[in-house]
Amino acid sequence: PQPHPRAGAAVKAADRAHVFHSWSAQELIDPLAVAGAEGSYFWDYDGKRYLDFSSGLVYTNIGYQHPKVVAAIQEQAATMTTFAPAFAVEARSEAARLIAERTPGDLDKIFFTNAGADAVEHAVRMARLHTGRPKVLSAYRSYHGGTQQAVNLTGDPRRWASDSGTAGVVHFWAPFLYRSRFYAETEEQECARALEHLETTIAFEGPATVAAIVLETIPGTAGIMLPPAGYLAGVREICDKYGIVFVLDEVMAGFGRTGTWFAADLYDVVPDLMTFAKGVNSGYVPLGGVAISGEIAATFAERPYPGGLTYSGHPLACAAAVATLTVMEEEGIVEHAARLGTDVVGPALRELAERHPSVGEVRGTGMFWALELVRNRETREPLVPYNASGQAATPMSAFAASAKAHGVWPFVNMNRTHVVPPCNISEAELKEGLAVLDTALSVADEYTE
Ligand code: PLP
Repeated sequence: PQPHPRAGAAVKAADRAHVFHSWSAQELIDPLAVAGAEGSYFWDYDGKRYLDFSSGLVYTNIGYQHPKVVAAIQEQAATMTTFAPAFAVEARSEAARLIAERTPGDLDKIFFTNAGADAVEHAVRMARLHTGRPKVLSAYRSYHGGTQQAVNLTGDPRRWASDSGTAGVVHFWAPFLYRSRFYAETEEQECARALEHLETTIAFEGPATVAAIVLETIPGTAGIMLPPAGYLAGVREICDKYGIVFVLDEVMAGFGRTGTWFAADLYDVVPDLMTFAKGVNSGYVPLGGVAISGEIAATFAERPYPGGLTYSGHPLACAAAVATLTVMEEEGIVEHAARLGTDVVGPALRELAERHPSVGEVRGTGMFWALELVRNRETREPLVPYNASGQAATPMSAFAASAKAHGVWPFVNMNRTHVVPPCNISEAELKEGLAVLDTALSVADEYTE
């Protein structure tokens, strides 16, 4: 990349003057001006290049600027840039078919949204109308989106400012052995006790008031906690027992991230509704949706579904999805993510954990890994307190600054760093990034006791 510092300064100045950024104190941020991106890399106007270990916000599953997907978007733009949702349109029909062919079980009808949060909104609306019940259960340590219902379902601090007591949301604890809420010492205990806790929560809320249980198949932003064997099957059983709709949120975990098409494939579980976005077209054009089971689709066979969006199934976004899924198939990207996860990332991170006292736990699959950083391995005290910001978050910001200085853009959330590069990253790029993590973890180590 050629340096163009003056152009970068203009981009930055207009941003600072007029762009209001997500989740941020506007005067306390310093966004990097990005000049370009390709594959697993992006670069700034000074010509400094970064290996993107965060895939943007964990969505560029095929990397930046894949030429075949860019060409498909250009071709769609040249023929039919947009068309209203009530019509049958080739790109939309084809995207729905390709998605439905990959989703588990009988999730064969696709309702398209613009992103993940509105997919969650619609899944909850469908569940409430299907059951005629008001409440929705979701887990602490979760993220489901920034819109009102989705942020209420969320089990992290982003919910607090927008919490509304009337949303009918009840939170419960999902399994997470490393920080067990159930005094469990084995995955089996954690699984059994988490299921018992969920069923008790339902009993005390009133089973006939619960429309849905919403879970990330593998919680993403909250820490990539792989559920123990039997947990999701147990939740499925509980849902069947009480007539509750089981919603799996695969906005982050879906479309190759876990080394399978969907995380649900790893656990052989079929939900009633599944939300998706991000990886469906690597975010080249905004797109999300809900995959709907036959039974729930039948609820709206003779009765209109009371919901819609002007851009539902936008042709440009759907053409990007068709091209993305085709490329993922042609290039074996899902299998590639599975192989590199098992053969390269897992062993490398475990080796780092042996040498770095700041690493408390390594967990993940495919291109979906988390390092839980701690001050003390015995007590498991997090490297920074829950929801820390500013000065209190220094150990994590120092870790991130070191990674960036050495050319890797890390994903950092609270006391964790996630290794979530594009699913088609090369083995050499991956090793380059892991070597930088090694260096940055030495900075984190300085804050251990
Ligand atoms: N659900 C999950 C699991 C997510 O990770 C996210 C975003 O990170 C969302 C929903 C919200 O998606 P969006 O930001 O596209 O609205």
